[in-house]
Amino acid sequence: MYIDMNSYFASCEQQRHPELRGKPLGVLTYDSPNAAVIAASIEAKRMGVKTGMRLRDCRELCPQMLTIATHPAWYRQIHVDVMAILRRYCDDVIPKSIDEAVCNFHSYKWVYNDLSAIARQIKADIAAQYDYLKCSIGIAPNSFLAKLGTELQKPDGLVTITEDNIDHHLATLKLTDLPGIATRNERRLQLIGIRNPVEMRHSSPALLRKAFGGVVGDYWHRRLNFCEVDMYNKSENRTMSATRTMSSQQSRDRQQLESMLISLCTRLEQRLVKSSLFCREVSFAIRYRDGSAWDTTVKLAEPLQDAMEMRSYIKERIAEYEQSRGLATLFTEKTTNLTVVIQSFVNGQVMQYSLFDNRLKRDMLRKVVYQIKDMYDQKNIVRKGSELLNPFVMKDAVGFGSVRDMGLGKDGQVKNRHMLEEDTAPGEPRKIVIRQRQPPPPAVEDEEMYHEYTGPAYSDDHYDNNPP
Ligand SMILES: [Mg+2]
Repeated sequence: MYIDMNSYFASCEQQRHPELRGKPLGVLTYDSPNAAVIAASIEAKRMGVKTGMRLRDCRELCPQMLTIATHPAWYRQIHVDVMAILRRYCDDVIPKSIDEAVCNFHSYKWVYNDLSAIARQIKADIAAQYDYLKCSIGIAPNSFLAKLGTELQKPDGLVTITEDNIDHHLATLKLTDLPGIATRNERRLQLIGIRNPVEMRHSSPALLRKAFGGVVGDYWHRRLNFCEVDMYNKSENRTMSATRTMSSQQSRDRQQLESMLISLCTRLEQRLVKSSLFCREVSFAIRYRDGSAWDTTVKLAEPLQDAMEMRSYIKERIAEYEQSRGLATLFTEKTTNLTVVIQSFVNGQVMQYSLFDNRLKRDMLRKVVYQIKDMYDQKNIVRKGSELLNPFVMKDAVGFGSVRDMGLGKDGQVKNRHMLEEDTAPGEPRKIVIRQRQPPPPAVEDEEMYHEYTGPAYSDDHYDNNPP
């Protein structure tokens, strides 16, 4: 059973602010006509607004659209509550992203004879706690087809895919309607004569191997013929990443870019400490408005956890490059996105400390700092000096992949409680920004509108969980 919350971020905002219900609403990470709408309410979608569209373009389709800034902690809280509801019915719940989860009911064959009834009960339980939230539920013999079921009926869908009705459902779809089939794959399939999902399902594994160039073709054959391919991720090879898209105003300030790097490293440090992991590989990428990018990867002899250490390796590489090219700085005003990715993890419990260094002490100190942070309700009451440089530069970006951090520990509590706290300054009330349409932009078009980053504003390691 696959559960997909409908128009999640927008519905969460409408849940919290009843005055926004029934109205077209766009959720943004920052407020600029070039910002991408990362989620749209059902009402806005009906007017043609799509996720990832620029605010400016949304306004053309839907002039009355309201906008609101993201409140990730609130979305995570609801995620945790919805997962708790699912766990009432199933002990094998796998969160796939902040608004999606799959429940494996295979061991419940003799317990439930009607999964549709369970699905309706789950919808009712969610509604009892959050009356404005709707979800689409798909039921099928494997998680891929169950997910496909959620795509077939939105909002508030409930679709069961069986051997008897699968071809009927597939006949309503194009190849690119299948999650994971984009235009490139569509072309490859068409090239060997597969024109639609029904033909794809009835193609031989050999033919599909030809289309996809290897074992991926076998996976597709199995997915469409009721075998399980997608449910569990390998926990090895996983990565953690922190990324932030900058407005053009932010990137004009070099100090903001420098602080952002610290924030990104600190976010990763926090996740490493919470899962007691160290990493042996750090990558960093800067993307620019003209589409170009610079990146570097550092492989480390000694696994690390510390944000400022992470930063110093990155800075070292940056300095080397700047010197070799005679560049003043890589952090130019054309910067549009910074990303830090870490991988190759080592468990803290099996870390080998070299004999003559004071790592052990520093690692213990870091742990204690986080324990002290945990003693207070608000995560920002206790800060490390490094976080003080410009503490509110980095708005809490919604990390989809971080659903792992929202899992439950042995004590039944959410593992990383910081994820559920709002990012406001201590003592400062939470700001809610609700904006009506702004006055029309000046007639002279500024050059930035052609270069603003318009991809999804989130790109934390969501794709680790979901095969692209
Ligand atoms: Mg959804």
